[in-house]
Amino acid sequence: MIVVHTAFECAPIYKTGGLGDVVGSLPKAQVHLDITPVIVLPAYPWIKKPALLPDTGIQILYAPIPLREESELHNSRRARIAFAVFSQNVLSLLKEKEIRPDILHCHDWHVGLIPLLLKAYPDEFFATTRTMLTLHNIAFQGNTSVPWLRHSATKRVHELFSTHKKISYLKEGIKAADTVTTVSPTHAREIKKGGGAFGLKDAIAKKGKQFVGIINGLDYTIWNPHADTLIPVNFNQKTLAHGKAVNKMLLQKKLYLGVSADFPVFGLVARLSTQKGIPLVLEMIEQFLERQMQLVILGTGDKKYELELLKYKTEKYAPWISINLSFDEKLARHIYAAADFFLIPSQYEPCGLTQMIAMAYGAIPIATKVGGLADTIKNNVTGFLFKEPTHKHFDEALNRALLVWQDKPMYHTIQKRLLRQDFSWDKSAEKYAEVYKRLIG
Ligand code: ADP
Repeated sequence: MIVVHTAFECAPIYKTGGLGDVVGSLPKAQVHLDITPVIVLPAYPWIKKPALLPDTGIQILYAPIPLREESELHNSRRARIAFAVFSQNVLSLLKEKEIRPDILHCHDWHVGLIPLLLKAYPDEFFATTRTMLTLHNIAFQGNTSVPWLRHSATKRVHELFSTHKKISYLKEGIKAADTVTTVSPTHAREIKKGGGAFGLKDAIAKKGKQFVGIINGLDYTIWNPHADTLIPVNFNQKTLAHGKAVNKMLLQKKLYLGVSADFPVFGLVARLSTQKGIPLVLEMIEQFLERQMQLVILGTGDKKYELELLKYKTEKYAPWISINLSFDEKLARHIYAAADFFLIPSQYEPCGLTQMIAMAYGAIPIATKVGGLADTIKNNVTGFLFKEPTHKHFDEALNRALLVWQDKPMYHTIQKRLLRQDFSWDKSAEKYAEVYKRLIG
């Protein structure tokens, strides 16, 4: 079975978030299931373009996209036009290379138009191709003003909507795809109930049984504290306590925090956005100083949150709070490897990968009980879940965490348990394979 994945990003070729991790790892798990995965990415001029996914035999193709610089991705109009063009180019490229997918697996809004283009402009070459659209974040819908598409390069899309003012690439993808998935069972339920559907409840309801939640996995060849070349000290189950302690001391030194094993370090690596609960962290931030807890934040995102966080880059807060506004793979890994706890106070979380990475690196997650966080963290067993992203509930979870911190045998029991968790892709890859098989009959 040939499965072609197409998306805006794929680690390690190009990564801005969890979508990149997924597109770079799910295909690897599919190779063992009699699937030949192929990945089609935008031929961004600013990336290196290897023909194979590193350390695999998985082919990567690059379809043209009319963008010159990475910053243009943040210009809505340019990005919308670019991905409409890219979506058409994906189909032309596959045809040109004579790769006829059994499944064309599209990820997120950027490629939401592909299932629609296949339906609206049937092509004999793709007659047996079935489409799947996976929603990694339903809040990002690629809403586009139709006049923007009045170019010759996007004529085919424009023609379909000439009487509309606006369209949503994601909604069109949901309507046209043969099947739609999201990245955890709990989030699938949240979407169906409507609360987490961001206006797309009806479109999803119409899919009926063709909408399911399949949890993301973690690629342990990439996220393994024993082999990670980017962290200062490697560790495994046996060397966990020592490895974490040295990484923590080195992180405290590197970031000019107070150096002591006694202060619990709380890590946070995320897009700085409302979704990720940054307003809540800002509301609680003084507590870290008052209660002698250390907070290490690494992220980029909304300018207003970046500015708010920068207020804590002062001498007064320096021993307790470290604000790092960059996208830094090495520092991210050091934080996972050093932190005693890891904060994920998200308002909603389709799956979330950071809790799984944190667990693999022995940092106990403290997270809202939503979406994939609820599906992967066992409350008081492998982490601390709280019901709602409010000050009161977050505070209560922090108190539970601190009680465990004071009870060191208990803390170490939980920490060891984290490293035994197995979120590998195998089971989820099988679930995707079942859905593919149903689709192609
Ligand atoms: P998202 O909703 O942003 O995709 P996920 O939890 O699914 O969130 O995945 C986030 C991924 O991006 C993780 O691999 C995380 O380590 C990484 N990441 C997020 N912010 C940064 C950053 N500033 N520097 C390095 N890695 C980051």
